[in-house]
Amino acid sequence: MSSTLQGITDDFDVIIIGGGPAGATAAGLLSERGRRVLVLDRERFPRYHIGESLIPGFMLPMAELGLTERMEAKGFERKYGGTVVWGNNEIPWNFAFATGGKIPYAYHTRRADLDTMILDRARELGAIVVEEATVKDTIEEDGRAVGVQYTVRGVEGVVETRGSLIIDASGQARVIGRKYSEVNWHEQLQNVAVWTYFDGCHRLPGDEWSNILIEGVKDGWFWGIPIDKGVFSVGFVTPSATAKASEQSLEDLFKSQVAKTGKLKELLKDAHQTSGFRSARDWSYTNERFYGNGWVLVGDAAAFVDPLFSPGVALATMAASSLAKIVDQIIEHPQIEEKALDRYASAYKDFFDRIRVFVEGFYDRSKTKGFYFDLAQTITDPEKKNDAHVDFVQLISGLARNDALFNPDLSDLIADVSAPAAD
Ligand SMILES: Cc1cc2nc3c(=O)[nH]c(=O)nc-3n(C[C@H](O)[C@H](O)[C@H](O)COP(=O)(O)OP(=O)(O)OC[C@H]3O[C@@H](n4cnc5c(N)ncnc54)[C@H](O)[C@@H]3O)c2cc1C
Repeated sequence: MSSTLQGITDDFDVIIIGGGPAGATAAGLLSERGRRVLVLDRERFPRYHIGESLIPGFMLPMAELGLTERMEAKGFERKYGGTVVWGNNEIPWNFAFATGGKIPYAYHTRRADLDTMILDRARELGAIVVEEATVKDTIEEDGRAVGVQYTVRGVEGVVETRGSLIIDASGQARVIGRKYSEVNWHEQLQNVAVWTYFDGCHRLPGDEWSNILIEGVKDGWFWGIPIDKGVFSVGFVTPSATAKASEQSLEDLFKSQVAKTGKLKELLKDAHQTSGFRSARDWSYTNERFYGNGWVLVGDAAAFVDPLFSPGVALATMAASSLAKIVDQIIEHPQIEEKALDRYASAYKDFFDRIRVFVEGFYDRSKTKGFYFDLAQTITDPEKKNDAHVDFVQLISGLARNDALFNPDLSDLIADVSAPAAD
């Protein structure tokens, strides 16, 4: 065995498959609590990833990791809200995160920079991270996943490592989910995305300067994300069925649809494209099971919603934070494992479903913004404690009803197993 692998064949408290935002957040927060954590990622960081516009919920786990000031120092572009050309409103409308009253901004970033920063922080906090390490399978004993088998680029053979619990944070690769769980596809959100980058873009005016632009066209919608000075990430999302029925390639579809935009076309009028096109099938799904005997899923490995309103990274990192707190308690009190993971899974699915149901409703573009605000209120605040506009902003910020997910309470489970046995 290569000397680079010495020491990592030991047993760990937790093995995490994937060092993206979900895996790195869970790794950092568990390591900070003194847990022995191994992270395996098949890529070498910094690595490219789509998902560049963040929402305020993301700021919470980053604060826990101690990254708030580092993100600012990195010069990531602050994102205060969005400009929306959508629905039956004749003119574009805006939302400001400040309306939600909790966290007024998030960031737009290049994911290569962001993800490397979070993974480096996990290392600083004590996690062992092996890059270019591809997990091939789990090791099972008596029906429980007790470890993983993986290969490391440039190293011969397969390595086996054991851990008390295995977290699958492998994104859409769903390494463990594929083996142990069915997946439920959400039929209304079967889209395909095609995107590229432009330099020399104009910015939105005044207070909208750093907003994400979300612009609907007949066959789909565009994102325009100011990731860095004049550079925009521009993507087109359309139903997979529409793309399939079209005689155009995805690239040609992108170009012909840009020509039909209003706002976006203005921003791009003096810009030049700086890279080729990339595309992804971004079908929304939820795994049937989020946990099993010895394993648990987080981030895209558990569920993926849709790029509309950019909830992916916030969801992944908030769930990872929750999972770190829960797994830490499971290691202390192994008897609570099943009930604690069940509590995690229900809180995560409920939170995810509220966003999914809202996004599905928002895709109906025949309505006005008042309808979308009311829809958010019906989903998150049926007793109408807030103004519907506030409910809308809190929902799309990832901050509405996030308590059960973000601050899991296991005290009753721990009390049950800690109580002295009756004579
Ligand atoms: C078109 C599109 C646009 C999007 N736009 C946004 C947006 O604007 N904002 C937003 O927040 N989200 C957006 N998302 C979603 C966002 O990309 C994801 O939700 C987010 O990256 C999830 O993080 P994660 O850590 O769960 O997974 P990932 O970031 O995918 O990380 C998973 C990691 O696992 C590793 N891995 C995979 N297989 C293995 C293996 N076998 N062994 C070891 N390692 C492995 C990968 O290398 C990767 O580093 C978008 C998604 C799409 C498809």
